[in-house]
Amino acid sequence: MSTTETIRPPEYNVTGQDYQDRRHFRYEGPPLIDIHAHVMRPRNFEKPDVVVEDNVDQARTMLAVAEQFGIARTYSMCPPEDIPLLRDAFGNRLGFNGPINKKKEEPDEAAYRLLDRFLEQGIEIIKFWAAPRGRDRGLFVDAPWRIEAARRARAAGVRLVMVHVADPDVWFQKVYTDPSRYGTKADQYVPLCRMLEMFPDLTWIAAHMGGDPEHPDHLEALLERYPNLYLDTSAAKWQIREASAHRDGLRALICRYPTRFLYGSDLVTRPGLDREHYVSRYWCERTLWESDWQGPSPIQDPDFTPSEEGPSTPTLRGLALPPEVLAQVYRSNALRLLKSTADEHEPANRLR
Ligand SMILES: [Zn+2]
Repeated sequence: MSTTETIRPPEYNVTGQDYQDRRHFRYEGPPLIDIHAHVMRPRNFEKPDVVVEDNVDQARTMLAVAEQFGIARTYSMCPPEDIPLLRDAFGNRLGFNGPINKKKEEPDEAAYRLLDRFLEQGIEIIKFWAAPRGRDRGLFVDAPWRIEAARRARAAGVRLVMVHVADPDVWFQKVYTDPSRYGTKADQYVPLCRMLEMFPDLTWIAAHMGGDPEHPDHLEALLERYPNLYLDTSAAKWQIREASAHRDGLRALICRYPTRFLYGSDLVTRPGLDREHYVSRYWCERTLWESDWQGPSPIQDPDFTPSEEGPSTPTLRGLALPPEVLAQVYRSNALRLLKSTADEHEPANRLR
């Protein structure tokens, strides 16, 4: 071994945080529901059709950690063929959300067939992923085949649609620098508003704090204008960086609209992940929403530009949401929207 070799700290703990220290956790209500996660057989990131670990071991690890953090039920986006395996293994601890996608060259029928497979598996939500980087592949939130998929899902009794529009502001400065190809950040909301107006009887959940934790005033305008719009709190690194940076504005917004926010983690069961990876996300998310903890985020963040002398990760500044707001965000909003059976078969669960 070379003596110059440096041992890098793992991405899930660059500050040496003791994740067993949970004395700052404040929420003591009934178990949480995670509305946004990707629990599946781990797949190749580049080739999502290739299953790398043909088992549910990562899912078992993740859900065991979830339970330690008080999360009783997790809604997963996964390929339809994984749903029976996951149901067998985890029963009512999981619910399912079917992402409706198709390759650009595929006919619209491919999307409808996929929807049918999800409906056969009893999904409760459908997902339209429409990040700017999906435009090249035709993944617009209001593509005609998605409008038709929403109609068909509604006819089959699905009431909830999750959408991913926009991405962090810093990506529009660094990645999406060509607005003729990707549009501006504001452009991402035009098709979303079109869908909100076209389907006022569906409940729309805009993932990752509506894609705009950087602008609580924009989120407020959307929530005011569209009573069928809800926001999830998922994507740990993004929310740690930006919800902390816009702490007071976002906290005030959530307190003004406590019925419109849903807890989500955005955890993904990737091949070879260490248990501590899952621990780090749940720890940071609960710290961010319920406590007044403040310090450098323990999670490495490639989207954060450190100042010369400053810490290498963004500051996590807890929002310390009031208990009655947390109870809604963590649980009762999801229960109400899903009329879920989360209370049945719930594991005996202590939050600390
Ligand atoms: Zn996600």
